[in-house]
Amino acid sequence: MALIREKDNKKLHVKSKLMGESLVGREFLSSLEYREQYRLLPQVNVLKIGGQSITDGGARSILPVIDEIIANKQKHKMIISTGGGTRSRHVYAIALELGMPTGIIAKLGQSISEQNALMLTTLLSPHGGVKVGHDDIPKLSAYITQGCIPVIHGMPPYGYWEHLPKEGRLPANRTDVGAYLLAEVIGAKQCIFVKDEDGLYTDNPKVNPKAELIPKIGAQELIEQDLDDLIIERVVLEMLLSAQSVTQIQIINGLKEGMITRALAGEHVGTIIYKDK
Ligand code: ADP
Ligand code: MG
Repeated sequence: MALIREKDNKKLHVKSKLMGESLVGREFLSSLEYREQYRLLPQVNVLKIGGQSITDGGARSILPVIDEIIANKQKHKMIISTGGGTRSRHVYAIALELGMPTGIIAKLGQSISEQNALMLTTLLSPHGGVKVGHDDIPKLSAYITQGCIPVIHGMPPYGYWEHLPKEGRLPANRTDVGAYLLAEVIGAKQCIFVKDEDGLYTDNPKVNPKAELIPKIGAQELIEQDLDDLIIERVVLEMLLSAQSVTQIQIINGLKEGMITRALAGEHVGTIIYKDK
């Protein structure tokens, strides 16, 4: 890239391949040279604590998870991302009945995941828990260097600008998507989803007792299987296919003691979904 000064009118131009392009041309986009994506926080693990699956269980499910996070604090750097859960579903049901647009529903969901972020931060406060907002991403390094455990609400900040879903009116980009995108933008070491099942099954194990655990599967393969129900938001699978830094995720059972510790250590203890295309 270079600055060019026109001879006659003395205007300054920046010479680059992008000038005068629409930035949507297919051939043009594929001709660009992309440097490998920079990783801001490559040592940090993003842990998404499920709303419905963990937080809604109250003290019985949350406190052991908090204890395990604290026990791992010296060894592993972590950012906690929170889900919404039952209260999100409650407000979504009312909003749907009232004919609310997707952007309004997304905004409602945001404030619920923030409630859970506030509670988890409070529980982690004696151990460095600090509640951060979406604009605080560039400050995460400072918090982590000081031994803090940042807690962020999972719902991505699309809000009123939430993408229109392919089906229905519920926002397709919810807290699983927000947690994954956070991991990707910081170039995290791992993105771990802490839920209430051992991982992804062939069907919802709470409904179908014959459902079988799938320990590892490619995102494209899983999309093609077109399962009726999943343990993770479908958009995360599509995003994994475009992943630059975080090319796999793991879903683990946070109700089983030791799973968080083992996943943080890099063990395969749940379902790994990886970029296969
Ligand atoms: P979170 O609160 O972490 O977002 P959800 O309640 O949204 O979690 O999703 C987790 C739930 O998904 C599990 O408790 C399980 O009952 C359900 N589920 C649906 N389909 C599947 C599947 N194929 N494999 C595993 N769990 C599934
Ligand atoms: Mg969910």
